[in-house]
Amino acid sequence: MSHPNPLLADDTLPAFAQILPEHVEPAIDTLLADYRAGIDALVAPGAPRDFGHVMLTQERLEQRLARAWAPVSHLHAVADSEALRKVYGPAEEKLTEHAIELCQNRELYAAVQALAAAADFAALPRPERALVEHALRDFRLSGVALAEPARSRFRAIGVELSRLSTEFSNAVLDASEAWHEHVTDERDLAGVPESGRAVLRQYAEDQQLDGYLVTLKQPSVQAVLTYADNRGLRERVYWAYQTRASDQGPDAGKFDNSARIERIMALRHEAAQLLGFANAAEESLATKMAASPTEVLEFLQDLAVRAKPVAQRELARLREFASTELKLDNLEAWDVGYASEKLRQRDYALDEEQLKPYFPLPAVIDGLFGLAEKLYGITLAVREGVDVWHPGVRYYDVRDAAGRVFAGAYVDLYARNGKRGGAWMDVCRARFDDGEHMQLPVAFLTCNFAPPTEGKPALLTHDDVLTLFHEFGHGLHHLLTGIALPSIGGIDGVEWDAVELPSQFMENFGWNREALDLFARHWQTGERLPDELFERMLAARHFHAGLFLVRQLEFALFDFLLHLEYDPAQGARALAVLEDVRKQVAVLHPPAWQRFPHGFSHIFAGGYAAGYYSYLWAELLSADAFGAFEQRAAEGGSVIDRATGERFRREFLAVGASRPALESFVAFRGRKPEPEALLRSHGLA
Ligand code: ZN
Repeated sequence: MSHPNPLLADDTLPAFAQILPEHVEPAIDTLLADYRAGIDALVAPGAPRDFGHVMLTQERLEQRLARAWAPVSHLHAVADSEALRKVYGPAEEKLTEHAIELCQNRELYAAVQALAAAADFAALPRPERALVEHALRDFRLSGVALAEPARSRFRAIGVELSRLSTEFSNAVLDASEAWHEHVTDERDLAGVPESGRAVLRQYAEDQQLDGYLVTLKQPSVQAVLTYADNRGLRERVYWAYQTRASDQGPDAGKFDNSARIERIMALRHEAAQLLGFANAAEESLATKMAASPTEVLEFLQDLAVRAKPVAQRELARLREFASTELKLDNLEAWDVGYASEKLRQRDYALDEEQLKPYFPLPAVIDGLFGLAEKLYGITLAVREGVDVWHPGVRYYDVRDAAGRVFAGAYVDLYARNGKRGGAWMDVCRARFDDGEHMQLPVAFLTCNFAPPTEGKPALLTHDDVLTLFHEFGHGLHHLLTGIALPSIGGIDGVEWDAVELPSQFMENFGWNREALDLFARHWQTGERLPDELFERMLAARHFHAGLFLVRQLEFALFDFLLHLEYDPAQGARALAVLEDVRKQVAVLHPPAWQRFPHGFSHIFAGGYAAGYYSYLWAELLSADAFGAFEQRAAEGGSVIDRATGERFRREFLAVGASRPALESFVAFRGRKPEPEALLRSHGLA
């Protein structure tokens, strides 16, 4: 079927070459109008209340919109232009409004409820029940189920919280911009490498200054605290940075987030209680794999007990090194990063330039796809002639062992102008079977590697290799899904603290000798990665792992306890909670004026509230899942074990959110996750 607007053409794959900015607005308007009409018909009195009419209709409407929006938002990210940006913003706003309208639609909520209450609901297949249960949960969390006046109050809280979180991050930003130190004598920057100086020179130039400008932007803070020999400069930067937006430091009281922290915590607690939760920590867990606050706390505290002695040993060694080698007798907070770097350079220096020749991109891609074939019996092969947005992009058909195409992937690897930085996996098409049509899953895999140069392939750093493996892991989760209901298939709807399992899982292969041997060969000589280099990579990976872990534990426990133990009578007590946590887990105790919470945007202005622990949780899951493969190798088999791969695919990758992640994990591993795996992956077991 051909349509004058390619975004409405409903083709199997988007017609990228034909999509123009002027197509966006009319397509989105048409689709949203159809969507509304579809929902109106669905909720109309007398309309049938079975799964097909209530749930499949919604999935169908959503997919039709997604088929048009996915290529638009992808182009916005990878082939941006002034004209596209102009139509993108307003369209995105319409979509946001539409999404809010949907989750606040009480008639739609009633229709889904009626379906769940029907006598035959329990007889539905599990994925169908899961779709209904997810929808009901999301309705409840949006406040639509509340009676008045609670519903209006809940909505008002949402508006105020969103304003406060913007104010919070603006205060951090403003505080960061307010402070700087002009350096004219190059000797004051002794120790800072040329790349760091170039950044500071640029900051000075931006302000029409000569010399260097030390600021509180991340690269500047990093360069000074890690490398500057000038201890006074390090102290001033640390002091300004660690007191941003607070009642302390050089701009004390000017951008102070103290009152905002209080208000945010009070409102979160009130909102959680309106929804029937005891506190905001319990509300956060409603969409996570961890079943209860106790489970999260036990996980974190258990890790702390094991990691703290290691961190203490590392710190003792660092102190000794600092005292004998650097003549720093009192290791202050602003000395730790600096001394660590000196120790790392002495014992574990690893030259990335020495490693890169072993990671030529074409070989890494072949190795990665080869790994997927060995683990899951799938093959990826380029399909020529597919319409793409840039000549460097490849489209791959994904085939099963019988040679049948069941998915596809656009792979776009190189940095270029108009392309957003970073690496990510995004959904182009979701697997969907509505009984009439079958839509196959298609992924966008995007990276920003340095392109090849004359006569030389693109050479990756080891970090680049891990990034590629990580995103490909998300891709496999999407492509290998066996669930044909998009809202609970692939990565969609998966618990927040479990969705990084498949991606972090793949990274493990990037640290495994047997897997590396599939592709890590010198691009000129064909020589495999030397053992000596590999050993150094491992040693550098685990450098100060204990100190790293206790810091993460401090953040995670602070965040979780702050939300869990909030008491309206006492207020947030953020500094007191932090102090208690530090007594429990920290080995480094910063000065009393330090104000870490005031710049903790992850939890006060981002989506991590009572969820910061997810970083460690997902890492544990992926390490423990990988442990099943390591076990095969330890028994004399291969870490790239087909039977274990098939089981991982069947029990975890294929099921999406059709059942709880814990159940999937147990089905794969034969038991619940065990913390030892995390310690092992940090070299602490
Ligand atoms: Zn990820």
